[in-house]
Amino acid sequence: MNRALFINNGDVWTNQTIEVENPATKEIIGTIAKAGQGEAKQAVDAAASALKAWQRKTAAERSEYLLKWHELIRRDEKTLGEGMTMEQGKPLEEAIGEIRYANSFLSWYAEEGKRIYGETVPASAPNKRIFVQKQAIGVIAAITPWNFPAAMLTRKLGPALAAGCTAVVKPSELTPFTAYRLADLALEAGIPKGVINVISGDAKEIGEAWMNDDRVRKVSFTGSTAVGKLLMRQAADTVKKLSLELGGHAPFIVTQHADIENAVDGLIGSKYRNGGQTCVCANRVYVHESIKDSFSEAFVQAVKQLKTGNGLADHSTIGPLINQSAVDKVQNHLRDAQEKGATLVYGQEPEETNGYYQTPVVVMDATDDMLCMNEETFGPLAPITTYQSVDEVIQRANDTPFGLAAYVYSTNISEAFTISEALEYGIVGLNDGLPSVAQAPFGGMKESGLGREGGHWGIEEYLEVKYISMQV
Ligand code: ADP
Repeated sequence: MNRALFINNGDVWTNQTIEVENPATKEIIGTIAKAGQGEAKQAVDAAASALKAWQRKTAAERSEYLLKWHELIRRDEKTLGEGMTMEQGKPLEEAIGEIRYANSFLSWYAEEGKRIYGETVPASAPNKRIFVQKQAIGVIAAITPWNFPAAMLTRKLGPALAAGCTAVVKPSELTPFTAYRLADLALEAGIPKGVINVISGDAKEIGEAWMNDDRVRKVSFTGSTAVGKLLMRQAADTVKKLSLELGGHAPFIVTQHADIENAVDGLIGSKYRNGGQTCVCANRVYVHESIKDSFSEAFVQAVKQLKTGNGLADHSTIGPLINQSAVDKVQNHLRDAQEKGATLVYGQEPEETNGYYQTPVVVMDATDDMLCMNEETFGPLAPITTYQSVDEVIQRANDTPFGLAAYVYSTNISEAFTISEALEYGIVGLNDGLPSVAQAPFGGMKESGLGREGGHWGIEEYLEVKYISMQV
């Protein structure tokens, strides 16, 4: 498949292309036109031209477009899922699950856009009135990663379009096709030209073009902390509003009051979904010393059931990782942990070797000086450590610059709340390994990011507050 850029509802071809690889086979599955600064500007031109007419539509009209888009994505969920597995690697069932999750942001914001309420405030003088309105911020740029090629896009475009913004979008060059397929369906849904524009190319070049363009009023980014910090610096010159969803390093705490079966289920979901490549994946596991053996035995039994392989094969529950450096990072964390005294309790060589495969690995006796206990592994390695007291586990869990997601398993309500409230994390899964849904606020504290996506919080990110003071 060879794809053009998607600008103003039309194809834009360029002289250069980017090859896209299937991580399950290392085969090139297609190419995508490579944009430069010129196309980056062209995309903003299109979004800027479309802005007024899109803003002037009623919320109900914009809602109709989003719902039509939602309907078409549902119609094509299987083909979209297959396409995603081919470029991203995740098992087909998970890919279709992501398409549904992605789509839930369109239907949810199609409704929420109708509830962008203003306020009136009592004035300080009898002849004055205070009106507060909310207005779309303008053209927005969405820069998205490869781990959720559909959901990270709709999580931004759903609220942005519902609020009356138009968008320029840059998906990851590793997984671009899903974004273009979604754009095709937006076109089929009748979304006017210029409202959504998708380009691919050199990330730094496109990023700089958009960050320097004062017509882009807001940037919503999901990706690494390093790039998020760079964008924050670049946003200063034109004072853009920013939403940043950056790296996590989630602690998973299993107390002596946990329901062990539930905790094992939760950890399997949280740790191994998408092969461990989500920013809310459990990265380090803290188990109360009194249940160390019972928990770890049950966990290893469950891990043994996971099957690593091509995501299009029926039996696979873990697909390949995205590329060789992802596999190398897991191997590096594993080697480091073993050198520092961790015990490998489960791990096997992958059966398939054509792609970037990494089978699940479990290590015991992890210590706080190991790499895997300090930075995101972004792969299927589960390091288990023990703790003795609630204060100790809170301190160790919070001892990191990251603050995205944390998990607590406890059936003791007082203990569960004490830990949940003390955790310096934007999201706490309390007896819940998979907390992300369209109506809830997703986002991090500390260096994990700024702003929230999802729920009524998510649409505020695309709105400006305007105060009209009237003298009567
Ligand atoms: P990951 O490790 O998840 O790939 P990145 O932060 O590298 O995280 O990538 C997330 C998104 O940011 C991708 O779309 C990528 O192309 C883009 N990106 C990478 N570097 C830059 C940059 N300098 N400016 C703007 N976007 C960038």
